[in-house]
Amino acid sequence: MNDIQKAAELIKQSKHCIAFTGAGISVESGIPPFRGQGGLWNKYNPEILSLGYFYSYPESAWKEVKKLFYEFFGKAKPNKAHLALAELEKKGYLKTVITQNIDNLHQEAGSKSVIEFHGTAQHLECIECKSKYEPYLKIKNEDVPKCEKCNSVLKPAFIFFEESIPRQAFDDSTLHASKADLMIVVGTTGEVMPASTIPYACKRNGAKILEINPEHSLYTSKITSLYLQGKAGEVLPKIIKELL
Ligand code: NAD
Ligand code: ZN
Repeated sequence: MNDIQKAAELIKQSKHCIAFTGAGISVESGIPPFRGQGGLWNKYNPEILSLGYFYSYPESAWKEVKKLFYEFFGKAKPNKAHLALAELEKKGYLKTVITQNIDNLHQEAGSKSVIEFHGTAQHLECIECKSKYEPYLKIKNEDVPKCEKCNSVLKPAFIFFEESIPRQAFDDSTLHASKADLMIVVGTTGEVMPASTIPYACKRNGAKILEINPEHSLYTSKITSLYLQGKAGEVLPKIIKELL
């Protein structure tokens, strides 16, 4: 049996398979990761995601946030890896995707159950009264998008550096991690806390870990049961083909 066949077999035999994805799954959609060579932090100052900076200088923070997370991320389309995970769910093999990404590409690919661990760029939220808004008109027409009810500044609904994980996403992830007997980990270094702890929790609860990444992550030598070295958009479709 080759590794693709082994991966398909693991998925076939699992009763509660979930996926855990990071920036790597969106690389083939044209969105680079933050860190490493060619990473976004080489071009952008991470300060734009600091809450303190956002509150102190909303105008300049918004200028960069608009460029990066709406104009640039907004152009990306789901790739074969996102589509493969959506297909796995449709065919009944995958219960949910826990993603660290904020780009909405899993949903655009057709995944129905997506837990957004770091929130989403899909709406803006008032920092005071928590009212929600669609981003597009707001960011087109206003330099600093403001709440129509209380006139406070709106912030993208993804988390900035000093913020905590959205409660519901945290609870849902913990629950799935406790039920899972297989986790497919795709395109993540395992360096971003506390998201990085989810695969360990899964492993502790007895799950096998199937990992797809062109490079070793912090998980590979520690908890990965089967490591498939390669790009998500190439490896995942091969597994689907074998499986279906
Ligand atoms: P990360 O932990 O998400 O790591 C990126 C990983 O992707 C690396 O291990 C790299 O080897 C792997 N990778 C590169 N190309 C790949 C491919 N074609 N297929 C599979 N894997 C591939 O690191 P980060 O970018 O520093 O992210 C920090 C946080 O910011 C994470 O929570 C991440 O999800 C988020 N982020 C999100 C987006 C997005 O929404 N698309 C983009 C950048 C960062
Ligand atoms: Zn408000």
